[in-house]
Amino acid sequence: MARRYVVVGGGPAGVVAAETLRRQDATGSVTLVCGEPGPPYARMAIPYAMSGKIDEAGTWLRKEWDHYEALGIQLLHDRVAKVDPDARRVVLAGGGELPYDALLIATGSSPARPRIPGLDLPGVQSCWTLEDLRRIDPMLRPGRRVLLLGAGFVSCIILQSLVQRGAKVTVSCGSSGRMVRSMMDETAGGMIMRWCRAKGVEVLTAGRPTAIERREAGLRVTLDSGQSAEADLVIVGTGVRTNTAFLQGSGIAVEDGIVVDRYLRTSVDSIWAAGDVAQGFNCCTGLREVHAIQPTAVEHGRVAALNMSGTPTEFGGSLSMNTLETLGLISCSFGQWMGRQGGEQVRVVDQEHFRYLRLEFFDGRLVGANTVGMTNEIGIIRGLIQTRVRLGGWLDRLKRDPSRLAEAYVACAQGV
Ligand SMILES: Cc1cc2nc3c(=O)[nH]c(=O)nc-3n(C[C@H](O)[C@H](O)[C@H](O)COP(=O)(O)OP(=O)(O)OC[C@H]3O[C@@H](n4cnc5c(N)ncnc54)[C@H](O)[C@@H]3O)c2cc1C
Repeated sequence: MARRYVVVGGGPAGVVAAETLRRQDATGSVTLVCGEPGPPYARMAIPYAMSGKIDEAGTWLRKEWDHYEALGIQLLHDRVAKVDPDARRVVLAGGGELPYDALLIATGSSPARPRIPGLDLPGVQSCWTLEDLRRIDPMLRPGRRVLLLGAGFVSCIILQSLVQRGAKVTVSCGSSGRMVRSMMDETAGGMIMRWCRAKGVEVLTAGRPTAIERREAGLRVTLDSGQSAEADLVIVGTGVRTNTAFLQGSGIAVEDGIVVDRYLRTSVDSIWAAGDVAQGFNCCTGLREVHAIQPTAVEHGRVAALNMSGTPTEFGGSLSMNTLETLGLISCSFGQWMGRQGGEQVRVVDQEHFRYLRLEFFDGRLVGANTVGMTNEIGIIRGLIQTRVRLGGWLDRLKRDPSRLAEAYVACAQGV
């Protein structure tokens, strides 16, 4: 009998999984349940659509409108409200249900909303979906005051697009007082902050928001430091949480995300998970972590689908890696950039030219890095960390002169 595959979530993980399932099994039915209207799209393209570099269609993951139909993948625009593993079916929010033989959960994550009054006022927005962008877009006019609540990775990407649209941007870093705290150390984050200020962005370093009110002059956000800021538009970027609420009662184990094994299987038979919603293996540490980046989502989707369709395939583990462009300054974080206990590090800081390199070593290998204002080294650093190559004598040479990264890479690849 033809197998019934159901994929929940039309992001990069779900789309790649559905396509892989079709390639692997020509006769099974593949249903992709998309929780948002319109063709599946990439969230990472939203900042480009915001700045006007691409139009909405440019965010679509597959450009031909009949791509899914041509592959025999059924797109269903609905949300899954419940998973019932005993009956092997999912219940849809719009009514009805879908039986499955193999089910993939690829529902990603959503912005976490701080519990403060005023969050539902017009002009207070998250920036996560195309629908969010459609609401924000008409409010963006040159000179408009935009306050970004939160200074994480996504906020800092949006910041660039807002400035490109002529907005007058203020960033509130929250209680940590730091920018991109989860991917950069204090030196790198501080450099990015100084760069932003030099480019005319106001950065507030103290205080969590406690309330948003509408005043005559616009929206006023009060911080627990006593400071306040006024804006025409407030974009809330104060963290994310995985979309797992609908799994309650299913028995699927959830920690920071859905717990998966090396085959992307969940704790429940015939159910897999992939992408931002999954807590999969880190290639360097072997620990389970949520790595909320598109390359991980795509690889999760592919590997999960191979396993669902009967080709046992181990997931090699993901590398946490983020590249950020903030008003022209490029910064990167790789793996265990914060270092490991008992490890060694080397840092080169050039505050004047906004250049920074921090390399973290452990057990004779490169395990993490932060860079600011340096782009040539990105591929090399990634290669050294991901291949887990032993540096041998190059460890001491790199500690003395980290600019010899390229030489080290070539020599280690040749086993010299
Ligand atoms: C503004 C922005 C910029 C980004 N920039 C980058 C970048 O530069 N580089 C990078 O690597 N990553 C970036 N990311 C992160 C990247 O977009 C995610 O890692 C990626 O989208 C994860 O893919 P996914 O398929 O796991 O989840 P998602 O893309 O979130 O897709 C999940 C899908 O599931 C649907 N869904 C949720 N619940 C249900 C339900 N109950 N029923 C049915 N469907 C449901 C959602 O509507 C959505 O369509 C960015 C994210 C944002 C928001």
